[in-house]
Parts: sequence; C-alpha cells; structure tokens
Amino acid sequence: MVKQTIQIFARLKPTKKQTAEYFVDCEEQSGSLEFVVPRDLADGVINNKRENYKFRFQKVFDQTASQEEIFEAIAKPVADNVLAGYNGTIFAYGQTGSGKTFTITGGAENYNDRGIIPRTLSYLYQHFSKDSSMIYTTHISYLEIYNETGYDLLNPQHEASRLEDLPKVTIMEDPDQNIHLKNLSLQQSTNEEEALDLLFLGDTNRMIAETPMNQASTRSHCIFTIHLCSKELGSAMVRCSKLHLVDLAGSERVGKTGVGGQILTEAKYINLSLHYLEQVIIALSEKNRSHIPYRNSMMTSVLRDSLGGNCMTTMIAAVSVEKRNTGESISTCRFAQRVALIKNDALLNEELDPALLIVRLKKEIQSLKEELALVTGEQRSDKLTQEEIQQLEEQIDVYLEDPDSEVTLNLGPDMRKIHFCFSLLKVRVREGSCAQNGMSKDSTPLMSVSDEEQRKSYAEVQKLRDMLTHRDNEISVLVNLLKKEKKKFQDVTSQLPLLYPSTNQSSMSATTKQMEESAKYNPSNIYTHAEQLMTRKRVLELSVSQQEAFEVFLRDHEDRLSIENNRAVLQQRFVEAKTLGDQVNQIRIRVNELKTNLKIRRKQMAAQGLAGHLTASESDSVEERILNQIEDEKKNYKIKSGCLKGLKTEIEHLQLLHEKLKVKLQMDFENWWTQEGARLKCHSAENTGSSQSHVSPLSCILTRALPPAECSFSSIPLTGDKQTDDDIEAFIRDRHNLLNGTGVAK
Ligand code: ADP
Ligand code: MG
Repeated sequence: MVKQTIQIFARLKPTKKQTAEYFVDCEEQSGSLEFVVPRDLADGVINNKRENYKFRFQKVFDQTASQEEIFEAIAKPVADNVLAGYNGTIFAYGQTGSGKTFTITGGAENYNDRGIIPRTLSYLYQHFSKDSSMIYTTHISYLEIYNETGYDLLNPQHEASRLEDLPKVTIMEDPDQNIHLKNLSLQQSTNEEEALDLLFLGDTNRMIAETPMNQASTRSHCIFTIHLCSKELGSAMVRCSKLHLVDLAGSERVGKTGVGGQILTEAKYINLSLHYLEQVIIALSEKNRSHIPYRNSMMTSVLRDSLGGNCMTTMIAAVSVEKRNTGESISTCRFAQRVALIKNDALLNEELDPALLIVRLKKEIQSLKEELALVTGEQRSDKLTQEEIQQLEEQIDVYLEDPDSEVTLNLGPDMRKIHFCFSLLKVRVREGSCAQNGMSKDSTPLMSVSDEEQRKSYAEVQKLRDMLTHRDNEISVLVNLLKKEKKKFQDVTSQLPLLYPSTNQSSMSATTKQMEESAKYNPSNIYTHAEQLMTRKRVLELSVSQQEAFEVFLRDHEDRLSIENNRAVLQQRFVEAKTLGDQVNQIRIRVNELKTNLKIRRKQMAAQGLAGHLTASESDSVEERILNQIEDEKKNYKIKSGCLKGLKTEIEHLQLLHEKLKVKLQMDFENWWTQEGARLKCHSAENTGSSQSHVSPLSCILTRALPPAECSFSSIPLTGDKQTDDDIEAFIRDRHNLLNGTGVAK
C-alpha cells in the first residue's frame, strides 16, 4: 500500500492581456505561486485586507510551459504507477478558459499541442510493445456529466445530435459499496490508434451535442478512463488498474454567471456539483471526519476512489493570470491547498485470475494423467472400478490373514489403490478394536492391534512411501525424456523449408537490405524475396544437392500457384488498405477543421447575442450547416473505418492461409525427401552397377543429395516470410505518422 497526499500542480495559461502581479518560484522539489493584490483592490475583489497570497505546489508551470513538460512532470509518473497496478487520477480544476481542456485533451490544431490523454495513450502503448513479458488489455470509457446526469460519449450505436440522445449512465452500488456505472460502455482498444479513435469519437460526440445554449463543454465534467489489465505470461495473477483523466467544469461562481433561465439552472448544477466536490474535499482534509458525503453528487461518487481512497491522485490547478481573473485564480489556488491535505491509500490491484487458474490446473492434471498412462501403460479413470475394489479387498484379506510379518501389500504406483487400502485397513482396525471391546458380532477380533503390529504397519507404510518416491523419480525421468523428444520433434517441424537457401553466400548481410527493398513489390516470383532473406541466415547446412532437390520440388509442387495467388491478393489488399487509411485520415482532418469553424462561429454568435443582435433561441443556419457537415463526415468516417477494419481482418486471414500453405509445403517436402531417398536406396541395392535409365531426374539429384542417416530437417534454416509483416508495419507506420491524438500533424 502506498500512502500519499494528492499531488498538486499549477499551470498558468499564456496571455497577452494585462496580468495580475504574480511571482512564480520553482525549487527542486516544490514551487510556489504568489499574487500581490493592491490594498484597494483587495477590498473590492477578495474582500479582505491581505496583500500577498502565496500558495505552495509540487511545481508551478509558468505561461511558457510546453505540453511535453506537463506530460513529463505530471502524467508520466501517474502512468508509471498505473502500469505497476495502482489506480491513478489526474484532474484539472479552474475557471472556464483557464486551459483545463487544453491541458487534459490538447489543442486540435497542432501536433505539439497534444494534451495529457493522447500523450499518455502513446506512452502506455509504447510500453506495451516494449514489454513482451506481459499481456496487456486496455479498455476505454468516456463519461460526460452534465446537470447531474451521466452520458456515455462512446456508445457505438449512437448518432448523437443532442446531448439527451446519448445513453444515460446511472450509478449502482453493490453490497460492498463499490460503485458501478450502468450503461457506460467499455470499449476495448488494442492499439494506440484505436484508443485515439475513441477519444476522437467521444470529443466529436461531445461537440455535436453541445449547443450555444447549453455550452456543455464548459459546464460539464468529462472523465476519460483507461482501464488496464496486465498479466505476466503464464501467470495467474492479474493486475487491473484504472486511470481517470478528468476535465472538470469551469469553477466560476454562480454570481459571476449572472444569467437567468436555463443557464442559471445549469450554473447551479455545475456549482452544486463542484460545491459537493469541495465538500468532499473539505471533509477529507479535516481529521476525524467519519462521514464523507460522496453520494451527494454523481461526480464525487464516480471519483470516490480518487479522493481519499485506493488511488494516486494528482490535481492540476489551471490558472488564468489575467488581472480581471485574480479573484478566481486565488480561489482556485485555495482549493488546491485543501486538496493537498488529502491522503490516499493506493493498493496494488492484484488478484488471482480464478478462471485461468482452473484452466491451468485442469491442463496440468490432464497432462499428468497422460504421462502416467504412458509410463504405466494403462488408462486410469478417477474412480476404481468395482472389479478393482473387489480385488483390493481380497488382497487386504490375504495380507491381514498371512501370519508372516514380512509379507507386503503390492499395490503398484496407484494412489487411488493406496488410498483405498488405507481406508479399508482403517475400517478393519476399527472393527477389530470394537470387537475387542465386546461390540463385535464375532467373538474373535478380526485383528488385534498390538504394539508390534502397529510398528509393522508403520514400517509397511514407510515402505510404501519409499516405493512411491522411487516410482515418482522414475516417472520424472521418463517425463523428462519425453519432453526432450517432443522438443526435438517441434524443432524439426518448426523449420520451414519453403524457401531454399541461396548458394551465393558471399553477398550475405551487406546487400541484404537493398535486395529486400528491391524485391518488395515483385509479386511475380514468390521466391525472390525469400532467397534474399535467406542470405542473412546463419550457416547453411544443406548440401548443394539438397538445395537443388528442393528447387525441383518447389517447381513442381501443386500449391505453388495457390501461394503465388495468395501473395498477389495480399499485396493488392495492402494497397487498398493504404488508400482507405489515407481517406480516413483525410476525413479526420476535415472534421477537425469543421470543429474549429464551429467553435469560431459559436464565439461569433455568442458575441452577437451579448450585443443584443440575436436572441439565443434564433437558429443559426451556418452552424446548422457545419453540424450537418460534421454529421456527414462522421457517417463517412464510420463507413470507411469499418471497411478498413474488414480489410485488416481479411489480410490477417490471408496471412494465416499463407502460413498454412507454407507448413504444408514443408511437410510435403519432408515426405517426398524421405520416400525418394528410401526408394533410391532400394533401387541402387537392386541394380548395383546397372544402368539408371528409369530413374527420374529428381532421383538423380537425390542420389547426390542423399542425406546421411543422421541428417534431419532441422538443418534447414528457418525462414519466415517477413515481407508481409514489413508491409503491414510500413502501412501502420504511415498511417500512424499522419495521426496525432485529436489533432493532425502539420
Ligand atoms: P477551459 O477548458 O479551462 O475552459 P481551454 O482549455 O478551452 O479552457 O482554453 C481556452 C483557450 O485557451 C483555448 O483556445 C485554448 O486553446 C487556449 N489555451 C489554453 N491553455 C493554453 C496554453 N497553455 N497554450 C496555448 N493555448 C492555450
Ligand atoms: Mg474546457
């Protein structure tokens, strides 16, 4: 368990306007932000007599701080903890326009403006790809809380044109008081691109659902959650952690909003919601408070673990240092100071995966049974048969009745029989002692348990134990032998003689890359690329004649055409996928542009509305048009990315087919080689010295190539068809370079 207070950071938004007088102090481990408010101003704005307001933070980022610095200092340590199995939360708090969304999600225009979410996703997936000792699974959820109602921003069936159309998320509590969110979809994302797609989808839904009237983006809370599960290969321990990245609603006070009607209701809700957050934080920061009012609002319920629970939490105070915002800025910093007092107890979320454990144990039992059957030469069921029981009873009777104290009970290495005999013996002993106490129907005890006899049965037990250990040892030796044989067999079968080795070894390594490149898009000859790949392989162990034989074998093989066709189709699919990928990227770029246009338009309309030219309820045809365009693009995006996914599946399928064919070819060659070899040996034995007129050309080659008895196919160097993988990688890289979080690379 890690006990840690909530870490607080401050970030000042860049501004060209007149700023309040403020000082940033940055030391190694901590920083401070100080506002100096003239006495006269202090009376009006913050209503007390103080002039200096100094606040301590873990670090203060001044106006020039880059997104990269923010990620490195704030998000990376949290992401590392999440990777280690701890829950993490980063939340941004501050008034509207202070840079919360910019910090959490990022700006849409510039690649470098990517915020914490895309950078964290990128960091996590990079980590996954580097760490091959673990299996990671990632799910994403994206929740928006507006007016105390939760909305799922990622529901795939959903065509949101209004916020109310989004599926409503509700809170459920189980008997252990754990919070569950009903209707919040968890979308699996297997790579960075898919995760970014989800962020993009959620943000677009959020944008579309917003109207100038509700301005949901500033009045709602958004929680982007990465659910991560990791498991070491072969282990039954799973670590599941969550990372909440939270963009809170603007923290401005209701008095300042100063509008009537719906907006006031909303302002009340935001402030109610934030008010409850503050209450929870106050309660947590005070010692000895037994009741924490988490349940008062949806947001505090959802973030329950992040606040004073099993989580490592970080707060970013987004501060606008413009003079007119001094009051709000000071209030934000005060809030942060409270938050810094809260202690969390983060636990390692590790548990045994019971399903996996059962599967593993079942497998182990099965393989042990098989091994046992192999060693003993008999199949065993779980229970003894009636016949076996009868035999054992007879054996026991004979054993007990035999006056010879040296007599042994030979049961063989079968624990079922041993157990059964022990329990039978126990019954007999008990029956004997009952009889001795006059409780037996029979006047002569079946068996008298004298000290001597007891000693003997102990000795017998010991003997049986020794025997068992001895048998166990035997079994292990045999099993080891078996394993070795199996491994040898696997080694042989994993070698892939689809590609025959080039005889020209002098060109090895130096020209390999060049040759691979030139062969890349040459579907006419499926072996060219392979040949070149071969040149970089380790020492060639095939004789020249074997290579020739393989060459001939390949030329005549029935599957050669299928392989060539398969390969041609695969290449065609890559080209299609690449084109589609480009189209999808184009759509994203267009949607981002449209989003920016929409933002500008809304600002313009809001300005006009304030100036009294337009009432808020009047519809704006320009905005409607942009929204329609976004809708259309979104539909198009869905179709295209759907096709792309389909194509990817098809490509994977084709690759599998390709692999299968390769394995088949290998087996065929093995059979052919052995048969031809045997036939030839036979033949030459029959016709020693005679003419070879009816020997096929292949046989001639084989005569030269005939392998010595110990020659195995493991000597054929392994050659995977790497071109396919290269193509896919190149394609993904191309696409990836174009994409960047919510924004697009310039
Ligand atoms: P909030 O979410 O707190 O309401 P935003 O993140 O939307 O505020 O920021 C308001 C505006 O300021 C946006 O146009 C945003 O791009 C810009 N902005 C905020 N922080 C920065 C920054 N650090 N650098 C450049 N622009 C910023
Ligand atoms: Mg915002």
